[in-house]
Amino acid sequence: MAGVEIFWYDDETSLALVLEGLKLRGAQSKEVLVLKKFLGRFFQKCPGSPRVICCNYRVINTCFNCLYDCSYCFLRGYLNAFGIVQFINIADLMEEVENFFRTSSSDMVYRVGTGEFTDSLMFDRETGIGQELIRRASLYSHIMMELKTKSSNVDHLLEIPRKGNAVLSWSLASQRNIERYERDTANLNERLAAIRRASEAGFITSFHFDPVIIYEGWKEDYSALIDTLFETVNREKVAWISMGGFRYAPGFKEVLKNVEPDTDMMLEEMFPGIDGKFRYFKPVRIDMYKFLLDRIRKYTSKPFIYLCMESDDVWHQVMGKNFATSADLEIDFSEAMKRFLKTLA
Ligand code: SF4
Repeated sequence: MAGVEIFWYDDETSLALVLEGLKLRGAQSKEVLVLKKFLGRFFQKCPGSPRVICCNYRVINTCFNCLYDCSYCFLRGYLNAFGIVQFINIADLMEEVENFFRTSSSDMVYRVGTGEFTDSLMFDRETGIGQELIRRASLYSHIMMELKTKSSNVDHLLEIPRKGNAVLSWSLASQRNIERYERDTANLNERLAAIRRASEAGFITSFHFDPVIIYEGWKEDYSALIDTLFETVNREKVAWISMGGFRYAPGFKEVLKNVEPDTDMMLEEMFPGIDGKFRYFKPVRIDMYKFLLDRIRKYTSKPFIYLCMESDDVWHQVMGKNFATSADLEIDFSEAMKRFLKTLA
């Protein structure tokens, strides 16, 4: 195929040499696809962030790195990673994941997903991983399998006969933020069209307003986005919506300055929080979350709405909930999902 070169490698040393050679020839990380066996754990609890309330999401590692190029992506901080590493020992992955499905308590509803270190659907038509995960998860009523994306690549999944509690999920932002900070992803109209197709095919959906990057006029844009979203999607089948303000770990600002010296993403003042990450000033975040929450609640009370990596104090002020630990949120979430799934039965 024109423009494509294929290299074989025997072990980590020869792979490192191939990658070094490609770097020297000026290849970019996202232009290089590495197919390799993954020898670590495929399945784990989301590491979250220390001393903030997290939802104890379960993460499946299918791939490391991403075809898309979001300015705020935390993967940019992994300076040693080069190439998009697609894991190929999928049978091992499925065995580990299914072991969790089989042995986890059916008194809880677990949310499980693949979109932590990559985009769930960017290669999914080619790998078939999403379809196989949905098929396996559909045998377990206490598992909600989420595939999260900034793409519009859903058509290969629409005809799956047994969807179980599979959730197709989108990260959403205003078109202005997509253009500036989410390069190579589907634009807002393409995402909304894909949401409509998924919804019409009967999928449960969920949405993530995360990270919200604020600017002059963001409220108008996000209001319009929420209006259009709820005109598009089947509101009865939206399981959850998350909200998270833009945040970054120490050191990320320097990484970003190197790759995007002219970015305007950091213009707002950011302050270190209890987990060391930098966020907008707390009153700004509280106002932001309340604004989005009110706007969403105008349309529906059904989805579980939650904050990503926020303190118990912000949780209390925005949602009126008192969670002392992440386990409290996990249980509350699970109970809400039991009620949600009953309404679909
Ligand atoms: S889609 Fe997600 S994983 Fe991919 S670049 Fe954007 S933030 Fe990173």
